[in-house]
Amino acid sequence: MRLILLFGALFGHIYCRETFVGDQVLEIIPRNEEQIKNLVQLEAEEHLQLDFWKSPTTPGETAHVRVPFISVPAVKVFLESQGITYSIMIEDVQVLLDQENEEMLLNRRRERNGNFNFGAYHTLEEISQEMDNLVAEHPGLVSKVNIGSSFENRPMNVLKFSTGGDKPAIWLDAGIHAREWVTQATALWIANKIASDYGNDPSITSILDTMDIFLLPVTNPDGYVFSQTQNRMWRKTRSKVSGSLCVGVDPNRNWDAGFGGPGASSSPCSDSYHGPRANSEVEVKSIVDFIKSHGEFKAFITLHSYSQLLMYPYGYKCTKSDNFDELTKPVVEALTGPMTLASNTHLPLN
Ligand SMILES: [Zn+2]
Repeated sequence: MRLILLFGALFGHIYCRETFVGDQVLEIIPRNEEQIKNLVQLEAEEHLQLDFWKSPTTPGETAHVRVPFISVPAVKVFLESQGITYSIMIEDVQVLLDQENEEMLLNRRRERNGNFNFGAYHTLEEISQEMDNLVAEHPGLVSKVNIGSSFENRPMNVLKFSTGGDKPAIWLDAGIHAREWVTQATALWIANKIASDYGNDPSITSILDTMDIFLLPVTNPDGYVFSQTQNRMWRKTRSKVSGSLCVGVDPNRNWDAGFGGPGASSSPCSDSYHGPRANSEVEVKSIVDFIKSHGEFKAFITLHSYSQLLMYPYGYKCTKSDNFDELTKPVVEALTGPMTLASNTHLPLN
């Protein structure tokens, strides 16, 4: 009997997880403004359930879109009828997800006897454990600060790096979009780097001698857990939306800055749904309240994955920041990999 129940639980788990068999990712190259307009219209067709990983912004620059299996023929017919160039970038999304899953299981097995693997994806519990480890290993430098709880009541814990006293501070967060797993992983790598390099690396030492750093590795914990257990493509929070069967809000459209503007959707079923009002999401509100009550934050940096972009405020408009040149100079000097500085004529949204 126990065995049957166990199998039942296993199958139940497998059946619950959404799959992406036959979904394709297309690389599309719009040649002119007209074709960009066509693609923006295509994106608005909710029944196609298109998932733009890289939005069409500038003629000649690629856009990437995940097309559900059921919509593949219609989308290809549309692109061909408009004379829009495209190619298949990922033949079957599920094949890649299965590979990723296998790698995660392998990494987990390897890790059991060794140290934390910063090159692997981890569960929320494992991330939380590693944060505690960092605090325990660097008691005079790293501490854990709770800034609130998520909609489903998971703690939002921030790592504070401080050499003592209350200094002006830098904010860093990751994983506001649940499925961007490399950002939560990157945040832990950064945390370890800061902790181990203080006193050795002159730039990290000099920053921490004059400023505190607050780092939130999992900004959207409910979404992260959901993306690992139910739907790998989940991006939003998991809050209930009144009057809709669709769940969740895009927390990065929920800030009280350009709320409801370009790039945000008013449709609760959209992946870019901005929510019923600014700061409606407890995850966003908790950060806002913390930053405001601290009062001395000098920088706010947030990590997203995909599209190799470095974006400066504000993401909802095309004008350059007042201090664009000052912001850009050290980055250009430091960069070694391919990266585009966001100066498109259309909004590159993340
Ligand atoms: Zn993102």
